[in-house]
This record gives sequence, C-alpha cells and structure tokens, in this order.
Amino acid sequence: MNEPSSSPALHTLQSVFGYERFRPPQQAIVEHLIGGGDALVLMPTGGGKSLCYQIPSIVRPGVGIVVSPLIALMQDQVDALRQNGVSAAFLNSTLGLDEVREVEQQLHRGELDLLYVAPERLMLPRTLDLLERIPVSLFAIDEAHCVSQWGHDFRPEYVQLSVLHQRFAHIPRIALTATADGATRREIIERLALGEARQFISGFDRPNIRYRISESSGNAREALLRFIRNEHEGEAGIVYCLSRKRVEEVAGWLQGKGVTALPYHAGLSAQIRQKNQQRFLREEGVVIVATIAFGMGIDKPDVRFVAHLNLPKSLEAYYQETGRAGRDGQPADAWMLYGLQDVITLKQMQAASDAPEHIKRIEHHKLDAMLGLCELTSCRRQALLRYFDDELAAPCGNCDTCLTPPQTWDATTAARKALSCVHRTGQRFGVTYLVEVLLGKGNERIRRFGHDKVTTFGIGSELNQREWSDLYRQLIARGLLAVDLEGHGGLRLTDASRPVLRGEQPLHLRKATRKISLKGGGRKAGRFAGQGEGQLWEALRQRRQQLADEQGIPAYMIFHDATLAEMVERRPETLAQLSGISGVGEKKRDAYGEAFLEVLQEYLQLEAGGESDTEEETLQLFRLGMNAEAIAAQRGLKPSTIYSHLAAGIARGEAALKEVVALEAHQLEAIRFAIEHHEGGKRLKPVFEALEGEFPYEILRCVQADMARS
Ligand code: ADP
Ligand code: ZN
Repeated sequence: MNEPSSSPALHTLQSVFGYERFRPPQQAIVEHLIGGGDALVLMPTGGGKSLCYQIPSIVRPGVGIVVSPLIALMQDQVDALRQNGVSAAFLNSTLGLDEVREVEQQLHRGELDLLYVAPERLMLPRTLDLLERIPVSLFAIDEAHCVSQWGHDFRPEYVQLSVLHQRFAHIPRIALTATADGATRREIIERLALGEARQFISGFDRPNIRYRISESSGNAREALLRFIRNEHEGEAGIVYCLSRKRVEEVAGWLQGKGVTALPYHAGLSAQIRQKNQQRFLREEGVVIVATIAFGMGIDKPDVRFVAHLNLPKSLEAYYQETGRAGRDGQPADAWMLYGLQDVITLKQMQAASDAPEHIKRIEHHKLDAMLGLCELTSCRRQALLRYFDDELAAPCGNCDTCLTPPQTWDATTAARKALSCVHRTGQRFGVTYLVEVLLGKGNERIRRFGHDKVTTFGIGSELNQREWSDLYRQLIARGLLAVDLEGHGGLRLTDASRPVLRGEQPLHLRKATRKISLKGGGRKAGRFAGQGEGQLWEALRQRRQQLADEQGIPAYMIFHDATLAEMVERRPETLAQLSGISGVGEKKRDAYGEAFLEVLQEYLQLEAGGESDTEEETLQLFRLGMNAEAIAAQRGLKPSTIYSHLAAGIARGEAALKEVVALEAHQLEAIRFAIEHHEGGKRLKPVFEALEGEFPYEILRCVQADMARS
C-alpha cells in the first residue's frame, strides 16, 4: 500500500507509525529539525506534536532527549513507542538506582532513539555530563508554557533549561505547547533562549469536537446519565465538577446506575488517584469524575466526551479541559450544563478573593467571556476561536447553536420589570425573593419588608418561576446585575442596566432549551449503530482489550479507535491490506495483524452465511471472542437465553465449557457431583438447591451439557 518514499522522515512515518502522510505543519517542523534548526511549536491538543520530535530523533543520529514535567505519563509514552518498535526509555525519580544505571548503559551503548527525562533530573551535573559524552540528536521541551510564571503550570526547574542552549549550542531544540497566548509565547522564547527558533503556530480549532452548552433544569445528574446512555454508552469520558464533595456524589451516583465512574480529586490519596487514573487509561469505557486536578497531560486519545457540570472560570480553562476529548481526531462531545447558581457562586468567589485589584479585574473579564459563550445565540466555535485571535470564516455546523439554532425572544419588557424589582426592593435581595415579589406571593417575609406594597409586586404573571430565574441568570451573565460582596446572593444594578431600565435599549435573549437535544436525536450510542457493523466493532474492541490485558497496557496502545474504525469500514483480509490502514506500522502489523484478521475473517463468514438461526448467531459471536454478557447486550437478548444457546453448543462439542464459564476446579467438581446425585440433572432445581444457590442456572445448564457430551 505504502509507496516507496523518498524522504527518510516520510519513510519513518509510514513504516514505524503506520501513517500515510504528515499533517500540514508536521512535515515542515520535522524537516526543519532534521536540518538542524530550532523550533517553537504551538499546536492544539491532538494536533500531533509528539511526531514532530519523535521522527527527527529517529532519523538523526544520536538520542533525542524529551524534557517533560509529566513524570506519571513517561512510562506510557515509552511503552507506546516500544509498541511501534522504537527504542525508548525514561529517567525520573520513580526509577531505582539499578534501573537508572541500566538506562545510562543504554545511552553509552548508543541503543536509544528517545529518552524522556524530568527537568530536575536533566539538570543534575551527572546527567548533563553524560549527555556531553554521547551523540544527542535533539532536545524537545514539551509543555513549554511551564516556563511562564503567569500561567497556572509554572515549574521553576523549567527556567534553568536555557542551560541547554549554552552547553549544547549545536544541537537543535524544539519547544512545544498547546496553551500559549502571545505573552506566554514571548516568555518561552526569552527564557529558553529560542530567539533564533522558527515559529510554527497552528490554528486553535478542534473541528471534531462538538460544543454543546445548555441551562440546567435542576437535575444535572439525570441529564448527564441520559447523555452518557444515549450517546456514549461504554465509552471513555471525563466529567468535571467544581468541588470534591460533588465529585464523590456524582461518581457514586453514576456507579449506582451501572456506569464505571471513578472519582479523582486532590483530597484522595496519591495511591487512589494513581489507581483510578490507571484504570481510566487502561480499561475501556471508564468515566472519570474529577475536579480540575485531573487532566494535565492526559494523553488518552479516545476520550469521547468531556462533560462540565459546572461553569469553568474562563474560556482558557474551558478550552483546555474540553480539549482532552477526541485527541484521535474522531468525533467527540464537549457537553456542559450550567445554571444560575454557578454564575452566582463564581461571581461571589471572585468578589471574596483577596487577590490584588488588577488580577481581580482580569478574572472578572475572563468569567464574563465564559458567560458570554454560554448565552450566545450564534456559532460557539466562531466565538471561542475569536477569543484566541483565530478566525473561522463561516459558522461551524458542529456546535449546538449551529445544529439547533436557539430561539430568541424580546425580553425588553420583562427585563425592565426584573431590574425594576431589584431597584424597588432596595438592591439587596436574591433571585428567589425577587421572583416571589414579581409573582405576587404574599408570604410573611415579603409583608414584613413591606414589599407587597411596591409597584413591582405581582406584575410578573406572564412568566413562571423558572422563566424569571432564567431571565435573572442572563441579566447577571450580561453584566446588567451584579452579585453582592457579602455572599448572600443579593443583586444590585450596574451602570450597564440603566439604558435597559429606562427602555432605551431593547434586549433579545435566548429561550431556554432545557434539554440538550440535537437535530436527528444526536449520535447513537457506540460508534457503529448498524447491527452488523456494531458487532464487528465490538468484536474488534474485545480482541484489542484481550491483547492489551495480556501485556498490561492500555487498549489504545494496541490500536486507536480510528484504526479499528477503519478496519470496520475497509474490511482488510490480508496483512498487506491491513498495513494500508492508518495506525498500522510494521511492528504492530507483525505483532497483532493475525489476531485482528482472524476477527475480520470470522465476521466475513458470519455475514456471508446470511440468515442464520439464532443459536448459530450466538455461537458465531462467541467464536469472535465475545462473552455471554456481551453477546446478550449486542443481540438485545437476555443472558439466560444466550447461555442456553451456548449450552447447546457445548453439548454438540462446538464450544468448550471452560471458555463459556469461569469455574475453579473445585467448583466444577461440586457442580458435577450435585448433578450426578440428582438424576443427571434431569431437573435443575434440586441441583440448584443442593448447591445452596451458589451457582446460577445458566452455569448449571452449561456444566450439564458438558457432562451429557462426554
Ligand atoms: P498532541 O501531543 O499534539 O496533543 P499527539 O502527538 O498525542 O498530539 O497526537 C494526537 C493523535 O494524532 C495521536 O493519536 C497520533 O497518533 C495521531 N497523529 C499524529 N500525527 C498523525 C498523522 N500524521 N497521521 C495520522 N495520525 C496522526
Ligand atoms: Zn457552530
């Protein structure tokens, strides 16, 4: 499939990584480095930064040194490279002395193409001396924004990296980041002495991410569960919440509903955090419920959704957090619910913070920009990109406002009433109270304050309680009302509200949508909804999981979703055809090709077989490597039905008992004994009871079938 390629870089891309062609900026960057130049690369998450230094490291003589602050991920990065047959290692504080020695030996022997190293380890005189004595192909400084003191990820050790320029002047350096505005970029250049470096700045757009934002109608958890079940059943996702307490509560609740949801926040022990993160990386379909403590440097490519149950503080945070979805370029959702309380809480937190005034002003603007995105009635992607000084000429067609244009209404009169009510009641009450006054609720508190006598009492019958509080949220979001500093949620008028109050400025607002519903009902759960393709997709995923489990690595290191999806679409039948699929390099073709072709062949036979009877269909899926539960889910049948098909298969010698049920020798012994002593299990109930209900009927039936055969 791959044409003989002229350049060594392209050859490496194809034979080692299994990709057909470079993405536009990659090629220029790779060639610039191979030619010995320095580079500063700004590329959005998922853009493909890693290859920009991996390929030159392989092509140039010597070892490529990758500086990264993300120690926890180095093992995974190295494992992923080794899967592709690249010789790589890492050096950080997690290694024992012997392991460090071993890596140093490999360096001396010139065996490594890539070495990942923590910045503090690199700065040790011992390490620098060693590197001066061996050929180094390049230095890559990943997460380069960590040199910036103004960013949230500042690492003091990063500042010392300018040493590289002094001590290794002739070795090319590349600094990479996904999050750098103009100021941070200048800081990177200055602090890392990259004045001579060529800059490669890519646009910010992540076209495969679908942005969706909706007002919470009170039960955010339910809405989240519906979203996961309808659109992302069995897929990996991240749910962000504002507080630890909320994280625990949401994770526990989702678990109760059958979702594999794990909590992650700074209050958990390092051990538990590590464990949950590992499961998220290694298992399929794990949902992490987290505070923002989770995510920095999470390289998992197949995160299919990022959900926010609270409003992020800024568009930078929103963009960075949602950016963790769909790094593999496949469709992914950025889904958010927010409500009045979010707006009030965040405004209060800001008001109460003791940051200096100029910082507070910046934070204030950032929150307003975030709120602006939420209340928008035009394309969200255009607005988001504009904020980052990036232009998108036309509406994107892949955000909720593009797909289901929100309706607007003339809120001028209602807004005047709402603002006036704030004024008449003395600018110190919260939304609930104000709405009660507007609706004319004659309760004790209102009478005590004499607010049943004000002109706005009972003038709001055209809207209900919900609609009024929606309106207040939008007025706050637009800066027409401010939240009090004392933290009681009292509202006061701002200067911006005067023209509206006086009726000089019309106001058009978006109508509440309540549910996040999309045209055509959104995407179906799982990638391939169609019966046949769905089965093949599931079977390929299961095979991938088996292979991953055997090695104790994450499934995506075997193949990414995109690679499996292409297998479903193209149905390769030979190793050569399989090589033509994106993501299948030579090493992986040799290691896993046969295993996947086997699944594909089984499937083709199944398809060719046409209408098979139901028992046969179960057995065929079973041979594809699916277990009874998976087959039941796939076929929409009860597991007990599937077990009866499998039992019949066992009786005919077409399926092996030990592959159908997992029983220990002594358990099997006990069941056999019970069946023998109850008329060979002519009726299973007495057997079941004799075993005190320890084994379900399904298992008894299979064991019985196995005994009947032998
Ligand atoms: P970043 O570090 O910029 O977030 P990665 O380097 O992790 O991005 O790459 C994101 C995904 O894109 C990975 O799954 C990677 O294998 C894939 N990828 C990168 N370059 C290419 C390419 N030229 N063709 C196909 N897939 C690519
Ligand atoms: Zn759009």
